[in-house]
Amino acid sequence: MAAGWQDVLQDQAAVREAAAVAVDAALLAGVLMRTGEQPHTSDVVNYAPFTLLPSAVPRALFEQAYAVQQDFNLLVDAISQNKEFLQQTLASTIKVDDFTARLFRIYMQVLEEGLAQTVFLGINRSDYMFDCGLDGRAALRQIEINTIAASFGGLTSRTADVHRLVLKVLGKTEEASHLLPNNPAKGVALGIAKAWQLYGSQRAVVMFLVEEVQRNIFDQRCVENELWNRNIRVVRKRFRDVFEQGSLDASRRLYMDGQEVAVVYYREGYVPQVYDQQNWEARLLLERSRAVKCPDIATQLAGTKKVQQELSRPGMLEKLLPAHPEAVARIRATFAGLYSLDEGEEGDRIAATAIADPDRFVLKPQREGGGNNLYGEELREVLEKIKDSPERTSYILMDKIRPQPALNYLLRAHSPLKVSQCISELGIFGVYVRQGQELVLNEAAGHLLRTKAIEHADGGVAAGVAVLDTPYLV
Ligand code: ADP
Ligand code: MG
Repeated sequence: MAAGWQDVLQDQAAVREAAAVAVDAALLAGVLMRTGEQPHTSDVVNYAPFTLLPSAVPRALFEQAYAVQQDFNLLVDAISQNKEFLQQTLASTIKVDDFTARLFRIYMQVLEEGLAQTVFLGINRSDYMFDCGLDGRAALRQIEINTIAASFGGLTSRTADVHRLVLKVLGKTEEASHLLPNNPAKGVALGIAKAWQLYGSQRAVVMFLVEEVQRNIFDQRCVENELWNRNIRVVRKRFRDVFEQGSLDASRRLYMDGQEVAVVYYREGYVPQVYDQQNWEARLLLERSRAVKCPDIATQLAGTKKVQQELSRPGMLEKLLPAHPEAVARIRATFAGLYSLDEGEEGDRIAATAIADPDRFVLKPQREGGGNNLYGEELREVLEKIKDSPERTSYILMDKIRPQPALNYLLRAHSPLKVSQCISELGIFGVYVRQGQELVLNEAAGHLLRTKAIEHADGGVAAGVAVLDTPYLV
């Protein structure tokens, strides 16, 4: 597949020249991040890491991933409204995983009070790898679906232009013309704008709930600017600002220092370390409010690894989407093997299998953001230690996906230019809006390709492992 670039990869001088052009093009295009040393200011910025060359992606699998995105939107939305499913599915997890338990408590508390929110906005990203079968044919396999703070829709909207230029510099003008346009930032902003409009208050703002350390601010600015272009006001606040300035009125409208908030777009809130007591209180306040949360707490829970694993049980998708047999078939076709480690015979058996053959599996806790999964020897050791304790239930097991590696250069500031064996992960952004029971928007909003050297088992771009890429369909 990578054969297309073989000639280029061998020409060291051409690669060096193209890399210099690529870095400047990325800076010009706004493929930017704040630096690790000075993450609190935009005085010093650098380019976000990216591949020198676009990576080959099988066209059929790319199209399959797009074709199933509206189905995944439907599914996530259905799960978020299914209390019985969430309760049953997470029952064992919340006994041992404190973070999921706390989210779940807020979920129940909000339901008991009764939802004030009537407009719902989902922005997710379904991630895939291309599993290379014994017959050499690749298959689309979902890694996970991110229902909160799915990032890089902004920066990736600008990377195709960089790769187009690089290909031209390398004498691949024809190939350059085949790179697809891609603008998830716009699709995401359209979803937020629709939710804002349906909320129905001209004065109200969209609030980006952001991190304390905002290295990836430019990715978010891409979406913000799309909203300002539509004359929608955007404010950036942290959980502690919400604790200090947030309040609800009698009909549970959300105000920040007197400013009404129509939409809360979380780019934070998915890792336990963020939440001290005050921030938990802030989260509860937001969830109780009438504001459109993206995602609401139910939709965040719908994105847990435990939910993903339970979805793969025979009959489960059919139960959740009874009116959509074709969507069910398309969704199921993307599933890898997923296994419950709940206490009991089924869990005992798969735990023993994984201990005997750890390289076949990935062990996943209920965490997001990269760097949490366990592989190989480490997987064996941990599973050995917890196999007879309830702690086992806080994890799930998944078949390890094995993509075909390809050569590429990963461009990273202050790093030497060297060729690496790489594998890629394709994400498709999904956006939907529901008003009451009516789905008024359901779309695939664009894609993200991330590529990493094969020596790293885990990790995304923010975790410093993967880099931004552009698919070259073959
Ligand atoms: P997170 O929520 O931390 O992003 P993921 O499930 O996406 O968790 O896993 C993180 C990374 O680990 C992925 O980006 C991918 O590189 C790798 N990974 C996850 N699951 C698998 C798998 N089944 N096979 C191979 N690699 C995987
Ligand atoms: Mg991930």
